[in-house]
Amino acid sequence: MRVKRNMKNPMNNELNDELNYFRFKQIHSDRYLLTNDVGNHLFLNKDEFVQLRSDPACVSGPLRERLLDKGFLFEGGDIDGFIHEYRTKHDFLHRGPGLHILVVTLRCNHTCSYCQAGRKGMDRSNYDMDLKTAEETVDFILNSGARDLCIEFQGGEPLANFDTVRHVIAYTQAKNTDKNIIFSIVTNLSLMDDQKRSFLLENDVAICTSLDGPEEIHNKHRVLTAGNSFRKTVDQIRRISAELDKKDREGKTYGRLNALPTISKDILRDHKSLVDLYVDLGFQTIHLRPVNPFGFSEGRLNGSQYTATQFLAFYRRCLDYILELNESGTVFLEKTALIFLQKILTRTDPGFMDIRSPCGAGIGQLAYNYDGRIFTCDEGRMVDASGDNVFCLGNVSDSSHQQVVTNGVVRCVGIASCLEGLPGCHDCVYHPYCGVCPVYNYVVHGSIFGRPFNERCRIMSGIQDYIFERLEEKSDIFSSWVTLSNRTPPKNYD
Ligand code: SF4
Ligand code: SF4
Repeated sequence: MRVKRNMKNPMNNELNDELNYFRFKQIHSDRYLLTNDVGNHLFLNKDEFVQLRSDPACVSGPLRERLLDKGFLFEGGDIDGFIHEYRTKHDFLHRGPGLHILVVTLRCNHTCSYCQAGRKGMDRSNYDMDLKTAEETVDFILNSGARDLCIEFQGGEPLANFDTVRHVIAYTQAKNTDKNIIFSIVTNLSLMDDQKRSFLLENDVAICTSLDGPEEIHNKHRVLTAGNSFRKTVDQIRRISAELDKKDREGKTYGRLNALPTISKDILRDHKSLVDLYVDLGFQTIHLRPVNPFGFSEGRLNGSQYTATQFLAFYRRCLDYILELNESGTVFLEKTALIFLQKILTRTDPGFMDIRSPCGAGIGQLAYNYDGRIFTCDEGRMVDASGDNVFCLGNVSDSSHQQVVTNGVVRCVGIASCLEGLPGCHDCVYHPYCGVCPVYNYVVHGSIFGRPFNERCRIMSGIQDYIFERLEEKSDIFSSWVTLSNRTPPKNYD
């Protein structure tokens, strides 16, 4: 697909230049966005764009320099630098699975309206990961080729099986000889107590919780039969923040606390209250992700669902407000925007598994069910929880690492998430930054290849539209977000 042209260089008629393949989109009446395979972008006005398309051989002066600088034009056909950038951008392909999700139990004390995890009641301890399976899982993970690992505890509610969490951390620390390992836990915090909190913070375990909005909205969707979910969560957020602040002052923390809202229909109407809640609690980030369909029965999904258009209108209002906050001195970031900005402004990939090509299923991450079965990702495990084991790759008790990562399912999902081969994506201007989800496609369309321009694509496209529409005007703020995220260890794989 690469467009080759022999052009006469206006400075030297003997040079043989090449116009690189690029994708484009008109984003304002007099603004065209161009992107190429290494993730470089360029804004051209209408005259410049028409000139480039109609007669690239005659492009000269500053425009020619800009095109050369960003690799839209090769002087004398020299593409070595471009190849190096392409390799760097896809560096994640050589790392192996870095994110390992352990579902240590399916038990949970909440009955959330949009739960996808296949939760079981608190009395069902046969859905806990036992210590033998936990050790086999750690042994399997330590055989992974990747050097930098994140072991993430999920559920159900992982605090409901804290003995296994504690054992996994101790066993990993005892057995590890050569990996850089960080731990994180995704918890609703309602079962947190002083001992668990001390253990997690002492071991620098990053804590991620769910906070869906003000009390009424949070409690409507996150139903805790015995108690007030919102108040328990906020109380623990305050306690953990205070302890992290103290550790910070002593200069010994890599521990972090994050929260994540699941965007419900109810919060769409009130973006400010959601953002203000996060700011008031001292968070520096919010990650606005729409509710997804994994593990839902169709009827339950429809009850929680909204259109891409509705979500995008909400997202734009949130981002407008977040940018206003930044302009008035409050540093606060939105994480989906940050993921795209890291790719756009640094041309490296932050390793976010669900927005990359190919996606992380099996080659960047693996998920381990309570019973030792291994899945492409937690979303693939959620499909199993609704009765379909298509994304299962093996079992920690009898599968080798080699067998799992070369499994036919991993290959298929990899092919299905390579944007180069997908109708709609291959020539989309956002191709260098985007990613599709084969599990989403499977659940929504019945095929891992999905359909072009589906609702997920519309959301990805709409978010990138917003970023590029504002990028020139808000470049200082957007650049400061990327700088800040680069200074914040450890790397976040979520
Ligand atoms: S299949 Fe979907 S959920 Fe799983 S890693 Fe790929 S993008 Fe993420
Ligand atoms: S998913 Fe949509 S926005 Fe993303 S590259 Fe494909 S067509 Fe473009």
